[in-house]
Amino acid sequence: MDEFELIRTYFDRPIIKQSVVMGIGDDCAIVNSHSDKHWLLSIDTMVEGVHFPAQLSAEHIGSRALCAALSDLAAMGAEPEFFTLAITLPNVNNEWLQGFSKGLFSIAEAFSCPLVGGDTTRGPLCISVQVHGSVAAGKALTRKGARVGDDIYVTGVLGDGAAALACITEEMPELKSSQAYLLERFVKPEPQIELGKNLVGIASAALDISDGLVADLNHLCKASDVSGVINIEQLPISPIWKQAVSAQQAIAWALSGGDDYQLLFTAGEDKQASLAQMNMPITKIGKVIEKQNETSQVSVLLGGQTYTIDSNGYKHFD
Ligand code: ADP
Ligand code: MG
Repeated sequence: MDEFELIRTYFDRPIIKQSVVMGIGDDCAIVNSHSDKHWLLSIDTMVEGVHFPAQLSAEHIGSRALCAALSDLAAMGAEPEFFTLAITLPNVNNEWLQGFSKGLFSIAEAFSCPLVGGDTTRGPLCISVQVHGSVAAGKALTRKGARVGDDIYVTGVLGDGAAALACITEEMPELKSSQAYLLERFVKPEPQIELGKNLVGIASAALDISDGLVADLNHLCKASDVSGVINIEQLPISPIWKQAVSAQQAIAWALSGGDDYQLLFTAGEDKQASLAQMNMPITKIGKVIEKQNETSQVSVLLGGQTYTIDSNGYKHFD
């Protein structure tokens, strides 16, 4: 049973509550605020050894935790409003807490997103951040609206998340020359809030890439009841470290490496001109097509031929 089947089986229940506009299944839940805005909610947990290596500094753990959580608001085109923090600590270490708090509030201030509550307990280090955002009622970007014929785009560059982890854990000495860049990307994976807001009214569907490009495109295709085809030649693989590793490794990280926190979105061909005018760092990587054999699928092409990948993205359970 993988993580998604587990959620479907044990947690996803019909919601009969007027205030809930949309529940489980997207990057955030959407809640009616009884004004012209909807509230968006999302929680993200980080566990030592799973989401960050034990040697990461407290300041960097703080900044990464909030950046990753805010990325789910960016995915839906929301403006960050405030957040809550649940922290489990093995002991009280003032130096550690000072660093953590510095990292956390540097991001909170950069995104005008104050901490308004939380919970503190003792146990193995674990950090949960629940972010709350807002968007004009009915305008949130969801995973659902992709239509056959739409173009598929990503923001920024791909593969940094996986390359950064390989660099930090010193698995790949060839990444040493890109160390400063990769460490910065790992500890501050900038949530694409401005881009997300700009895509409201333009993107037909969107999500943020946390599990890996192919795995997340699969989520979007399933939610939209379509299939997708992407071309490796078009992927914006990060130029900073691309030459330092084999082409196969670079492609694997761009396709299946997690934690890029870039946005993946679809938009109709009629939106091409508006997107070009906005001068945003986005790249067209493929097309939305009809479901194949009644199922939503993602095809990856290299030179027009099917490219087989050996990983389907990061999953906590398999
Ligand atoms: P993301 O990668 O965007 O943070 P996830 O893959 O973690 O999203 O979760 C997929 C969906 O399942 C989301 O809508 C999330 O809110 C929901 N979800 C995950 N875990 C649980 C849980 N324990 N109870 C209820 N909903 C959950
Ligand atoms: Mg997400």
